[in-house]
Amino acid sequence: MADVKTTNRIVPLDRVRNIGIIAHIDAGKTTTSERILFYTGKSYKIGDIDEGDTQMDWMAQEKERGITIVSAATTTFWAVNDVNSPVGNESFRINLIDTPGHVDFTAEVERSLRVLDGAVTVLDAEETVQSQTETVWRQADKYKVPRIIFINKNDKMGANFEGTIKAIIERLGANPAVMAYPIGAEQSFSGVVLLLERKALVWHGDETGAKFTEEEVPIEMKEKVELWRAKLIEQICETDDTLIEKFLAGTEPSVLELKSALRRAVIAYKLVPIYAGASLRNKGVQPMLDAVVEYLPSPVDMDHVKGTNPFTGEDVTRRTINEEPLAGLAFKIQTDQHVGRLTYFRIYSGSLKAGQSVYNSSKGKEERVSRMLLMHANKREEIDQAYAGEIVALVGLKETTTGNTLCEKSHPILLESITFPEPVISLAIEPKTKSDQEKMGYALAKLSDEDPTFSIKTNHETGQTIIAGMGELHLEIIVDRMKREFNVEASTGAPQVAYKETIKRMAEGEGKYIRQSGGRGQYGHCFIRLEPLPRGGGYEWVNAIKGGAIPGEFIPAVEKGLRESMENGVLAGFPTVDVRATLYDGTYHDVDSSEMAFKIAGSMAFQTTAKKADLTILEPIMKVEVSTPDDFMGEVIGDLSSKRAQILGTDKRANLTIVNAYVPLAELSGYATKLRSLTQGRASYYMEPSHYDEVPKNIAEGIVAKSGKNAD
Ligand code: GDP
Repeated sequence: MADVKTTNRIVPLDRVRNIGIIAHIDAGKTTTSERILFYTGKSYKIGDIDEGDTQMDWMAQEKERGITIVSAATTTFWAVNDVNSPVGNESFRINLIDTPGHVDFTAEVERSLRVLDGAVTVLDAEETVQSQTETVWRQADKYKVPRIIFINKNDKMGANFEGTIKAIIERLGANPAVMAYPIGAEQSFSGVVLLLERKALVWHGDETGAKFTEEEVPIEMKEKVELWRAKLIEQICETDDTLIEKFLAGTEPSVLELKSALRRAVIAYKLVPIYAGASLRNKGVQPMLDAVVEYLPSPVDMDHVKGTNPFTGEDVTRRTINEEPLAGLAFKIQTDQHVGRLTYFRIYSGSLKAGQSVYNSSKGKEERVSRMLLMHANKREEIDQAYAGEIVALVGLKETTTGNTLCEKSHPILLESITFPEPVISLAIEPKTKSDQEKMGYALAKLSDEDPTFSIKTNHETGQTIIAGMGELHLEIIVDRMKREFNVEASTGAPQVAYKETIKRMAEGEGKYIRQSGGRGQYGHCFIRLEPLPRGGGYEWVNAIKGGAIPGEFIPAVEKGLRESMENGVLAGFPTVDVRATLYDGTYHDVDSSEMAFKIAGSMAFQTTAKKADLTILEPIMKVEVSTPDDFMGEVIGDLSSKRAQILGTDKRANLTIVNAYVPLAELSGYATKLRSLTQGRASYYMEPSHYDEVPKNIAEGIVAKSGKNAD
């Protein structure tokens, strides 16, 4: 990567597009990102993911696995060449934020969605809408991200464009506005008809595809084109009061009017423009790029951002302009070989200069930004100043982690942080030699700095280091990176499921800690009530002390003691969840009571009360989707049933049967190998953490016995 230095650079904000590509694994996200970087002129040769040579996946082992793990923000430029462009024909800056395709990395998807303004969803024209697309689609709904859809792989056997449109309506609940209709299908796929313009774009051959010709709509398609075009125009007009009047009066609005209305409708989540292509064959990508500029929002389309004042708790709003004080979100930490720790930062308001101090309002600390970089696919550009709406990489920050707000100290604001799911799987990791031991601590600390869903713990009984994450693949990749990037050789134990504990009925009890053996005594005494909360309810604390039965200053100590006990559950040592704890009575001693005594009393109260509340173990349940040729459906379902699966149903897709099931994670170790041998390697599967559920009694007993704890 070459470094380039530029200064005094101002980008009109309405000409910025912060976008991400979201897709099911294998739909073609990497190939499409590659083509985008190629056509926008920043990438000099087309690298096929199959050959393990891409611009975005720069980490060596990502290349090997052919999947994208880290979010990297890549800056590039694109201008549309369209007289009817609703946004003009200037050059636009596109910041492409790479989102991962594998669900073990949902947290990465969430964090990138948080800082995107718009997204391109890539679908496989044969597979249509896959379950992971549904998951990510819902996440994008949650963060209110306007989208366009690129239906990829129209060249593939079994490609079904209209079937995909149907699935978009049925499975995503979206309102698709078909802008580009494919010409031919499978081997004969050669381009698209732009419906509004009644114009055919044809790519003759598979080469890099920078060149295509504009042609007449093929005669045999004319009827179909008119049909889809009429539907499209009606859909657009329905979203706009002025246009619908014209439409009902029998006048067709101009293409510019239609495109302008479409832009408003996309930003208001009313319509999703649909494009078609085959990235691998270098076809159909450029019209989709035009659509990114023409229909996805700019940072100014979201006119303000909300937060709170960290000192007073008051609501604060900031307009997304340079003239406001600085506010932004750190959304990614990455260690770069050349410059060290990089903090990817989305600026919502204000501007930032290299060398400036910023206030981290999440941590209450001030830090200095030594340098600022714009990351291109093939070079880093050093910049002196960055503006509202931009995504930049900051150098020099030591304390800032993912999800932190950076702002001006004199104008403090705290933006909503990014929430991450909890790890569901863990394993013990042991350095091979003494020198590995020294390096391992450093390597793990670095890796967890980058990845908030990855955690490190020490097992106090065995002294072992335990790492925990979102799935086996996630942990495998961490161990692999440790080896490659930090030269640490380590051996790992078998993956362990992250169980939890909970209670099934209400119980009351007390904790009393009294010591009177010379000198000052200790006195803490409390009564608590524990009640089960619904699954996912977490933890609630209620202080119901009346009449000063426990002085206010000791109450936080009671809670602290209780929380610590909950963390190392009573039954088998797993964290206790879904519990409401109410402190309702107690006694104290004028001289002997202390925070320490009440903390111990709180911890004792939890332990005695929990044992009376019908404790049980919870386990993570995965949502599993297996795609298998029909012939093997019986074997696949039979095998899942033997794994305590709850079969949710089956779907037909082309010549495949899709089996949907909830399966306990504990039963899924080695599933990839098992499925391969059951189906001669012809089935594939996909899974994601779904929820926690109670473990059957006989299995729970085994887990408790293994933990070596005694439940009495
Ligand atoms: P990702 O997992 O979503 O990043 O998908 P990739 O870009 O890695 O593509 C997955 C596979 O699909 C690779 O083998 C690609 O070569 C292939 N692929 C991507 N785009 C197309 C396409 O347009 N047509 C066909 N037939 N295959 C494609």
